[in-house]
Amino acid sequence: MAASKTLQALDKPVMTRAPYWADIPDEKWLDWRWQMSNRLNSFEELDAVINLTKSEKKALQSEGLFRVDITPYFASLIDPVDPGCPVRRQVIPTDREMVPFQSMMEDSLSEDKHSPVPGLVHRYPDRVLMLVTTQCASYCRYCTRSRIVGDPSQTFSREEFDAQINYIENTPQIRDVLLSGGDPMVLAPKLLQMILARLRTIPHVEIIRIGTRVPVFLPMRVTDEFCEMISQYHPFWLNIHVNHPKEITPELAAACDRLSRAGVPLGNQSVLLAGINDSVHIQRKLVHELVKIRVRPYYLYQCDLVEGSGHMRTTVARGIEIIEGLQGHTSGFAVPTYIIDAPGGGGKIPVSPNYVLAQAPGKVVLRNFEGFITTYQEPLDYDPGEIVNQENLIERRTEPGQEGILGLLGGDRMTIEPDGFAETHARGGKDHRLRSGEISDKWRPLGIGTIEHDKEEPKKLADPSLEDEQSSES
Ligand SMILES: *Cc1c(COP(=O)(O)O)cnc(C)c1O
Ligand code: SF4
Repeated sequence: MAASKTLQALDKPVMTRAPYWADIPDEKWLDWRWQMSNRLNSFEELDAVINLTKSEKKALQSEGLFRVDITPYFASLIDPVDPGCPVRRQVIPTDREMVPFQSMMEDSLSEDKHSPVPGLVHRYPDRVLMLVTTQCASYCRYCTRSRIVGDPSQTFSREEFDAQINYIENTPQIRDVLLSGGDPMVLAPKLLQMILARLRTIPHVEIIRIGTRVPVFLPMRVTDEFCEMISQYHPFWLNIHVNHPKEITPELAAACDRLSRAGVPLGNQSVLLAGINDSVHIQRKLVHELVKIRVRPYYLYQCDLVEGSGHMRTTVARGIEIIEGLQGHTSGFAVPTYIIDAPGGGGKIPVSPNYVLAQAPGKVVLRNFEGFITTYQEPLDYDPGEIVNQENLIERRTEPGQEGILGLLGGDRMTIEPDGFAETHARGGKDHRLRSGEISDKWRPLGIGTIEHDKEEPKKLADPSLEDEQSSES
């Protein structure tokens, strides 16, 4: 049995293809350009391939719907008679998509607000997100960027692209550029190569990466030429986007193998979706199938508060339960980090089950995945200063304004205050005997603060006018 199967595999590549396209010659089917130009998007086409439900029909015939396009390859993974099919629900709209929900936004991550130039989101100290196209191979109903994605009129202009590159060139703190969109892999091959080549001429750009769903929607696009092209721009990393084990086909496996052989480290980002993959057992299967094709699960995202995604959202509790079911239960490198991307634009926040149960000086009480409870004895003579000399041999990266909690721990400052904190607590009162700018030193914690603080201090102490004032008062 096994032997004949192998022979068959050698004879003819395994193909994921619905009967609807049975007569299409193989060379067409395997041509990514053919797949792109034969995508399903109209109600009539979809109706011919899939047994559409009333709700799907209604959505497909409504106005103002987020774009629908499905490659014939990906459509072939859909169960035509099961409305709950996890592949189908990702790409075929239902009328639930049109239902508004509390807190939904058009740009829930405030990306456009945090873009110094259109299409370039600079949120973290050392890396940027560069949106290079608004087009994708197929469209995910829950897309966080549906405000621009799929809409050809939102495409970035040549001037905007130049402005993005310009910004990166003039911002030496950027060491990592993430290309996304839309999907950078649907760009014309020459255009994508031009972008990679331009980025590679910038000396401070250390790594380039792409976030793409093309290997999942259109594995034919991962040609040998493509792999050869990107291998000229190493270190180059790539994240794919698989949500359900059904998407891991022999075609995707082969595409990932080609990428891996071209030296590209592969990761996966998935979105936690109600009724699609919000299950410990489905997620376990997913991560196992991913590591088999040498793709490391990277992030599992909580679904964003974006228009159209209301019915696909889960609770956060379900996400934490899924991590509980993975961590310790399976290979460490198969466990993604569960992320809530902060509404309003705070960036990715990792969320995890609690493993630390209690702490006292010298002791930490922990629990493992089985519920075993243990105690870790900490050293009582630990010297955190021992490393300082070695640390000083390393060039430090500065993170102006973004030192965060690490800045508190490092003694850069003592507090982080909400906007307007000082005004609120002044309660409208005027400066008075006990509260004036000039004696604000009484709120300066000893040994905390930046170098500027230290510079200021001796100057103030030596200020003769201050000394005079004090002596005349006494
Ligand atoms: C996700 C994202 C990145 C990359 O984040 P990593 O955690 O490094 O993968 C960078 N910039 C923006 C705006 C992002 O949303
Ligand atoms: S591939 Fe990515 S950018 Fe494109 S529709 Fe899906 S989630 Fe949005």
